[in-house]
Amino acid sequence: MSDLSATPRHAVVTGGIGGLGTEICRQLAGSGCHVTAVDLAARAERVAAFRDEVADLDGAIGFEAADVSKFDACAQLATRLQRQHGSIDILVNAAGITRDASLRKMSPEHWHELLQVNLDGVFNMCRNVIDGMLTRGFGRIVNISSVNGQTGQFGQTNYSAAKAGVHGFSMALARETARKGVTVNTVSPGYCDTPMVAAVPADIREQIIAGIPVGRLGQPADIARAVAFLAADAAGYITGANLPVNGGYFMSF
Ligand code: NAD
Repeated sequence: MSDLSATPRHAVVTGGIGGLGTEICRQLAGSGCHVTAVDLAARAERVAAFRDEVADLDGAIGFEAADVSKFDACAQLATRLQRQHGSIDILVNAAGITRDASLRKMSPEHWHELLQVNLDGVFNMCRNVIDGMLTRGFGRIVNISSVNGQTGQFGQTNYSAAKAGVHGFSMALARETARKGVTVNTVSPGYCDTPMVAAVPADIREQIIAGIPVGRLGQPADIARAVAFLAADAAGYITGANLPVNGGYFMSF
């Protein structure tokens, strides 16, 4: 990560204590970044477990509580982190929720709640870090979408809409920032071995695995490796791209 720079890059990972977020934090720290994991304060017991999980990384990963669905909270977080660390060089937007229901049963609350985290959260974080990245002439933004944003999924009109929107956002922002050393890309995981997928009924999970050419669920490390690749200094010629990491589950050109 810090391959071309003298000082360690500071990376912020939202949803940073989640199934994928934890591994993203670990891989970014492993490649030389100082990392701040951002997640909901309400998950106090999970925060304690997270601190244990990253204890071997010698303080390279810190934790900050914030709700990405709240613009003012993200503004305060960005100000605080930039004061503490001097900059936010890398932003990974991995905070996400599901509120599954077929459209006929989906309440407006489930629609708005999901959009506020999965799509507004990306805006709220990017809007509050972008000025600093443009001023310094360096930035890497990686937004986590989903294969279900590419294909659509039964019971997920809200999730699929938000995740498709995330990549539209990445492409538009990539155009706005390309001349200033800031890249914006999307990683679209397929089905991964995380609590989000463990919650899917076992028979449906087996059907999903049967449809994955590689023959297994993705591991968090598979996703984190793609994120770290796009977050590297050396990845400056890749922007506005979507990198699918789905074991061949959905292939497109
Ligand atoms: P997870 O539930 O383990 O982690 C998500 C994290 O986001 C949690 O720690 C949660 O507390 C946090 N979060 C939720 N609302 C938040 C808010 N308002 N502010 C701050 N943090 C908030 O899920 P995961 O499997 O690690 O998923 C991470 C990302 O990857 C999500 O965006 C998800 O949609 C996407 N994704 C996951 C899979 C998968 O198979 N697990 C597949 C495709 C895409």
